[in-house]
Amino acid sequence: MNAEAADDVQEVLAAVAGDRSGEPSAYLARLEGVDVDSSALAACSAAGETEAAGESTTEFALQSISKAFVYAFALQELGLEAVLARVGVEPSGEAFNEMSLQAGGRPFNPLINAGAIMVHGLIPGEDEDDRITVIRDGLSALAGRELSVDMPVYEAEMELSDRNLSIAHLLASNDILPDTPHEIVRGYSLQCSVAVTTEDLAMMGATLANGGVHPLTGQEVLRKDVVRQTLSVMFTCGMYDASGEWVAEVGLPAKSGVSGGLLAVVPGVMALAAYSPRLDEHGHSVRGVKACTRLSQGWDLHLLGHAAPRPHGRRVRR
Ligand code: GLU
Repeated sequence: MNAEAADDVQEVLAAVAGDRSGEPSAYLARLEGVDVDSSALAACSAAGETEAAGESTTEFALQSISKAFVYAFALQELGLEAVLARVGVEPSGEAFNEMSLQAGGRPFNPLINAGAIMVHGLIPGEDEDDRITVIRDGLSALAGRELSVDMPVYEAEMELSDRNLSIAHLLASNDILPDTPHEIVRGYSLQCSVAVTTEDLAMMGATLANGGVHPLTGQEVLRKDVVRQTLSVMFTCGMYDASGEWVAEVGLPAKSGVSGGLLAVVPGVMALAAYSPRLDEHGHSVRGVKACTRLSQGWDLHLLGHAAPRPHGRRVRR
């Protein structure tokens, strides 16, 4: 990253930070000390250089951004075939918490709640304590520092967990949940409550951009095939029922969370992370979406805006 990139990050955040449209998620009202008008933006290169602006060291809960990472951990532990047997890769075109399954009884994809609750249950462990340990360790390795669960967030999540419990019961009634609905939802809510800063999130994304190897610690956290599968699902399903619009405009694999966090990955190059709690009608950070859209356009990051790679640099002949 250079001085120009640092200026761009500052300018883009300043341009969107005055937008007061959207509403924060209901669970935030149950917490003390959350400034719903704070915002942050960070870009981290695949070599681990970060440029950040705003409240980029303020912690917030990963919420649904955790779904993409936990999907990667399930793939890493169990392999693609075993995971595909339990959860598909099709965009659902529905809201994140829709109670719907594909015809064969699988959730559509791992990034809507039905799929994410299923995937949480695939993480090896006897109970939710074992599973959250595996998940927290994996998330910490991606960030390059020890992350922890924000317990007040977890408690607020559990008070509002009726919908997720219904989804878990739906999965259990199809006989595909490896534990009781209550245990799985407790574990899933713990996973959603892991706290990160915007700078952490950019670094976690940079680890994906760097093929699963943490740019600074050098640890291979995820295999390349796992990263490819995870980014593919983020590309097609990461922004829920706004995924098509997002891909057309921004053109990057991404994942949002109801905390107001947003992650976008440019494979081989960098990751963008944004935070701002006011959400649009799809549950995405209003300022986060605007900031990533501006950076993608300004830095020409749209993955489909470039000539496709040709094997060995040769032209394809007819
Ligand atoms: N914990 C939230 C839920 O499952 C996450 C939703 C989100 O971030 O989109 O309802």
